[in-house]
Amino acid sequence: MAKSFDVVVIGAGPAGYVAAIRCAQLGLKTACIDDWIDAAGKPSLGGTCLNVGCIPSKALLESSERYHEIKSGLGEHGIVTTGVKLDLAAMQARKAKVVSSLTQGIAGLFKTNRITALTGKGQLLESGRVGFTPRGAAEQEVISAQHIILAPGSRPVTLGAAPLDGDLVVDSSGALAFGEVPKRLGIIGAGVIGLELGSVWRRLGAEVVLLEAQKEFLSMADAELATQALKIFTSQGLDIRLGCRVTGVKTARRQVQIAYQDADGEVQELKVDRLVVAVGRRPNTDGLAASGARLQLDEKGYVDIDEHCRTNLPNVYAIGDVVRGPMLAHKGSEEGVAVAERIAGKAGHVDYDLIPSVLYTHPEMAWVGRTEAAVKAAGTDYRVGSFPFAASGRALAVGTSEGMVKIIADAGTDRILGVHILGPGASELIAEAVVAMSFGASSEDLALTVHAHPTLAEAVHEAALAVDKRAIHIRNR
Ligand code: FAD
Ligand code: NAD
Repeated sequence: MAKSFDVVVIGAGPAGYVAAIRCAQLGLKTACIDDWIDAAGKPSLGGTCLNVGCIPSKALLESSERYHEIKSGLGEHGIVTTGVKLDLAAMQARKAKVVSSLTQGIAGLFKTNRITALTGKGQLLESGRVGFTPRGAAEQEVISAQHIILAPGSRPVTLGAAPLDGDLVVDSSGALAFGEVPKRLGIIGAGVIGLELGSVWRRLGAEVVLLEAQKEFLSMADAELATQALKIFTSQGLDIRLGCRVTGVKTARRQVQIAYQDADGEVQELKVDRLVVAVGRRPNTDGLAASGARLQLDEKGYVDIDEHCRTNLPNVYAIGDVVRGPMLAHKGSEEGVAVAERIAGKAGHVDYDLIPSVLYTHPEMAWVGRTEAAVKAAGTDYRVGSFPFAASGRALAVGTSEGMVKIIADAGTDRILGVHILGPGASELIAEAVVAMSFGASSEDLALTVHAHPTLAEAVHEAALAVDKRAIHIRNR
């Protein structure tokens, strides 16, 4: 008899595994199909995020930052270090351990929640029916499911001008696994991955050149902070070239030769030891649905959904990177929870206006809500309060005082419209802004909230005070 479930989830990344766990918590008989196989040839839950995304990149960012600081940043603390050496193999082994402890953790959570984990390929056949091809098998089984959640994630965009060879020209997964520090590293794309992985290898000693197509740096961020960030990253040795169009890539004698047109239209050539292509990701929809299923995709190839993540087919949902919106783990997870709740007859909700973005560089950059340019373009009357970390006692004590907090509030209602942070601990500080904005807070609400001293969070408090020109530790203009 065919296997039968209340819910079958295809994909066990942060969207799919979270959806599966929440479904099981709500009493639904749940299965999750996933086809990820790790470098050792073993199934590994957690998708891109845990295996080759958020987690391994943050492990390397942490290790490389410590190496860099111990090697060259402790002198001003009066700590003298000599003979500091890099053991990249040990650094990579630590990364692998962090990844495996988390992926095994998901397997454990599936067991405790009685979720059936199926290793292999899933395919939507029609509403109520999923095809499952177990790993290594040729035959597809049919599983019946009252509800189906599609969470197959995304994969890197490739460039015709820079084909990957898995050795010298790689994508982000390859760049997380280098066995030696390249002397010269080229990166196509100065987006989130380019900047994070560029920072890792720069700190470990590589000369890093980023070739970015857009003339504007980090166009999705607030322009004022992006300008500051560009200066800081450049001073760290990241050679960021904007407005570049790569026209061809050749490899010869273990070297990569890149031909590109610079912002002035001049033809340029760059030679590097390794090249990373990091120009965005695209949804995994190839073979996701049988042709007869008639699953509707949008014009960009994402699964087409409504505001409740419902596809055009009854009881079939789609979440995470395979649907519109930012390709972020926490966005996919929230969609997973919301869909599970809806299947169980409850109200699920994702506030798409309040999804925080974080760049895990040094210093970090994080934001939520609208940029000043977006608020201006909408014709909203607004006020801005900002506070530099250079005036924060804690930031000075920590030794990272670059950057600022900027709060944009409606001039009439004082409701907070956007919060932008470049500075130490930005990834954690942004959570306060998200909570405040979720509750419809005004800048005055934040200004009236007591913040412990000395903390980095005081900079958020001071920026809120600055909206009303009453910050204490800076001159109000
Ligand atoms: P995925 O994580 O891609 O998981 C999908 C899973 O489904 C995979 O295991 C895949 O193999 C499987 N699958 C696909 N098709 C099928 C099928 N037909 N049958 C069975 N299984 C299938 N986001 C953040 O929020 N913060 C970060 O710091 C961050 N850092 C990142 C760093 C890097 C280098 C990269 C590449 C990404 C990063 N991201 C980060 C993005 C984040 O990884 C993705 O947004 C997130 O993983 C998307 O989750 P998902 O569940 O939709 O898909
Ligand atoms: P991205 O969209 O952040 O950056 C890609 C960059 O490449 C853009 O700046 C784009 O203008 C540029 N580009 C595109 N085509 C180009 C070309 N032909 N030549 C030169 N430049 C070109 O994408 P990404 O960095 O690849 O990351 C993929 C996804 O993963 C993102 O959506 C991101 O949200 C997610 N991610 C998130 C985090 C995080 O949350 N910290 C970290 C890594 C990745």
